[in-house]
Amino acid sequence: MALSLSCCHATLHLQQHQVASRNNSSKNLDNVRSLVNRIGIASVQSSSLQSLQNGNWVKLICGASFEDVVDIRNLSLVYTLAGVDCIDCAADASVVSAVNEGIQAARGIIGVRRPWVMISVNDDQDLHFRKAEFDPGNCPIDCSRPCEIVCPANAISLQEEALKELSQVAGVSGILKGGVITERCYGCGRCSPVCPYDKINLVTYVRDAATTVKLIKRGDVDALEIHTNGRQTTYFQELWDKLGDSSKYLRLVAVSLPNIGRDLTVSTMKTMFSIMESQLHCLNLWQLDGRPMSGDIGRGATRETIAFAAQLARTNDRPPGFLQLAGGTNFHTVDGLKKERLFQSTSTIDSWKGLEFNANTKWRCQY
Ligand code: SF4
Ligand code: SF4
Repeated sequence: MALSLSCCHATLHLQQHQVASRNNSSKNLDNVRSLVNRIGIASVQSSSLQSLQNGNWVKLICGASFEDVVDIRNLSLVYTLAGVDCIDCAADASVVSAVNEGIQAARGIIGVRRPWVMISVNDDQDLHFRKAEFDPGNCPIDCSRPCEIVCPANAISLQEEALKELSQVAGVSGILKGGVITERCYGCGRCSPVCPYDKINLVTYVRDAATTVKLIKRGDVDALEIHTNGRQTTYFQELWDKLGDSSKYLRLVAVSLPNIGRDLTVSTMKTMFSIMESQLHCLNLWQLDGRPMSGDIGRGATRETIAFAAQLARTNDRPPGFLQLAGGTNFHTVDGLKKERLFQSTSTIDSWKGLEFNANTKWRCQY
């Protein structure tokens, strides 16, 4: 990360920034505290484990590639106060620290319970693990910048810079500066197809297994989520082998996979379960990624997710593990689940219990 650069200038700038942030942060915390005291918050009685067992588990997904630690800390604070059962974040040390800071700040305001902290990793190329890249210096100055407009994470910022006389003679008045704010980009891919000049690349990466093991052993991570494409299990096996006995430090291992057809999905789940079984020292969960990273799109996006869930729920010969919806889950998902008679909640805050906020929507869990 850029902060590790041994540049005194950058370090000083960072320190000044941190002092300013701390002052603002303390004022903001006071504001949140007085708001909570004034309006109160719903009390959540069940533990995260009970929520899983009762079918009203809620997970906040910060994003497997989202690494803006200030936003992540604030999100974690707010959603801890709101009573989520789990906060899912990137498998990065600074991000995990930010999540735990947010949780701690929330618990300093009022005695809410601590949600589980989950880190997300991948075994191979995956949509959730990529970043957009382009060189703004190569963009035409008169581009209307649709990339900036379409980005849902405000992860593209461009500014025009005037050029000196020599270039103006050549007919160029300025260039674009800025580009992708890497820590905010979560790899949704929406910027790339709207670029009229095909300037944007989406670069995928795979989280390092050794780093993941170190993070798990730090003591402030409760759960691991492994994203896999479900079409082969070789890379899954390799990753699982590298993780060794890490699951003994965890409460939950989740496997997130897309719908590759009922029979193939179930058979892959069985193979993966048999790979995990001998070194699985905690609970396990299957995250059904119906339509990856599309929860904000609308009512239509949730249909595939619900169809996937309905399919698996009616399959008796699937391997053990809780089931959880993801991808395409949103405000409309609970209604859809109710229509399918799949929604189950004992919560008093039914309007959002059973939801995975991206946030993703969680659903009836079964074990
Ligand atoms: S991939 Fe998505 S989040 Fe990243 S810059 Fe493009 S639109 Fe924004
Ligand atoms: S849309 Fe393409 S060409 Fe235009 S500013 Fe964005 S990346 Fe550059």
